[in-house]
Amino acid sequence: MELTILGCSGSVAAPGNAASGYLITVDNAPAVVMDLGPGTFAPLQELANPSEADVVFTHLHADHCLDLPSLLVWRRFHPELAAKGRNLCFGPERTPVHLGRLSANGDEVDDFSDTLAFAPWRHGQTEILGKLNFTPYEVDHPVEAYAFRVEHTATGSSLCYSGDTAYTENLIEAARGVDYFFCEAGWGPDGNDKPIGMHMSGGDCGRAAREAGVGTLVLVHIQPWADKEATLEAARAEFDGEIIVGEAGMEFEI
Ligand SMILES: [Zn+2]
Ligand SMILES: [Zn+2]
Repeated sequence: MELTILGCSGSVAAPGNAASGYLITVDNAPAVVMDLGPGTFAPLQELANPSEADVVFTHLHADHCLDLPSLLVWRRFHPELAAKGRNLCFGPERTPVHLGRLSANGDEVDDFSDTLAFAPWRHGQTEILGKLNFTPYEVDHPVEAYAFRVEHTATGSSLCYSGDTAYTENLIEAARGVDYFFCEAGWGPDGNDKPIGMHMSGGDCGRAAREAGVGTLVLVHIQPWADKEATLEAARAEFDGEIIVGEAGMEFEI
């Protein structure tokens, strides 16, 4: 499988880097979009037909889902590339209501079941999306949120995407032995003076990568005002393996 970072800027988009969104492509199977934060729909169009992709959400904070209305317009109204049927959509329980409100009037809800077949995540219950097994793990964030363990059923290659979370045992389980670990470092170099139960620091990411025994750690969700180099150094102090600071457009063969 191949993963492309559509955007990985933390909490808000940055110049040249949209908020959170990741595209996974596999030969002869639907692409899967993990999160669809503000600005991610533009690069998505260049890489896949959005009308043929499944879409999954870690959680419903704005920086992870606000481009869904754009996807709905494309799937319903594109003159040549509109969707010919429904793709799968997984997310927290409230996804249809919460996101349906984004493209409706007042208190109404845009029922998008015409174009996306939604089902809620259940912690630990594996869902099959084409050739990929997605297993969601509940993580530690102020809203219902999941990390994903993703495994290619034919090759056995694997990745974990943390979504947004503080350090938690469930994240270690989700990432256990994966080839690539895309882990949020929302607090940048140091989370000591920050609220608990929300994000990770670079050091937390390094510790999680070490404890889970991952191959490569990719630091993502670093806020635009944070020091990336110092965040990388903090991770390095905890983890001996390869560490990459994620950037929009990066491609990973996994
Ligand atoms: Zn976020
Ligand atoms: Zn969040």
